[in-house]
Amino acid sequence: MDLGIAGKWALVCGASKGLGHGCAQALAREGVNVVLVARRAEVLEQAAAALRTESGVQVLAVATDITTPEGRAQALAVHPDLDIVVTNAGGPPMGNFRDWDREAWIKAVDANMLTPIELIKASLDGMLARGFGRIVNITSSAVKAPIDILGLSNGARSGLTGFIAGLARNPEVAARGVTINNLLPGKFDTDRLASIMQNVASQNGQTLAQARAAQAKPIPAGRLGTPEEFGAMCAFLCSLQAGYLTGQNVLLDGGLYPGTF
Ligand code: NAP
Repeated sequence: MDLGIAGKWALVCGASKGLGHGCAQALAREGVNVVLVARRAEVLEQAAAALRTESGVQVLAVATDITTPEGRAQALAVHPDLDIVVTNAGGPPMGNFRDWDREAWIKAVDANMLTPIELIKASLDGMLARGFGRIVNITSSAVKAPIDILGLSNGARSGLTGFIAGLARNPEVAARGVTINNLLPGKFDTDRLASIMQNVASQNGQTLAQARAAQAKPIPAGRLGTPEEFGAMCAFLCSLQAGYLTGQNVLLDGGLYPGTF
């Protein structure tokens, strides 16, 4: 299916690996030019070079911390007329709520709520003026079913989810060709999940393979998701065909969430 977005420009954050990279790759395969953001320049450059070779689209890379005002300014300056923005940054650390002080909370809210909001604020008016825009926020299944050890994520991302629910439905936005949706990963095979599994394994005296099998066991699909599967859904949310889909929380979890709706 031709998604109708070839030639458009996308900013994809947290894009050197994992889910952000899956989104960038899927968009580039659709002919979308991409601006990739991540902090480590070397890893990012490698990812950008591979994507350039594979897709033939324009792939620009900005090595910066997207959770800082300077980082966002740098990322947004690369291509002023963005059609697509995929917000993403590293998730907050695991832990016990007793250990999180105000600074830990501010950091989580900054990265996983305020950074996406600032990126949207900076790019939305241009999209509205041009009559087309797609914003996809990578959040987490934790906003639908909280994860006990990830309280910072449960809290900070829920704030973003509430804000998006209102903004996406604002007629000034929804009636002018701009959709805003959240993409909620369940358990995906990325370095982030591997480091969480390593922690769980150490705590429970398990091997990494045992911790991994335990993570996959309750998933009806019987396995972790792949960044490619995640990217494919992201590209669809950015497509012309998805123009009537807005304000939604799209859960990708292999059937793990047990509710009927
Ligand atoms: P990952 O494999 O660790 O990849 C994270 C990517 O984001 C990397 O490219 C990383 O590169 C970049 N990044 C991290 N912090 C950044 C920052 N401050 N500024 C710019 N780039 C930054 O993680 P992932 O599994 O893809 O997870 C992506 C998001 O989805 C996270 O918020 C995570 O909590 C959430 N999530 C993931 C899962 C899962 O199963 N994987 C489940 C639920 C939620 P640098 O380190 O070089 O910056």
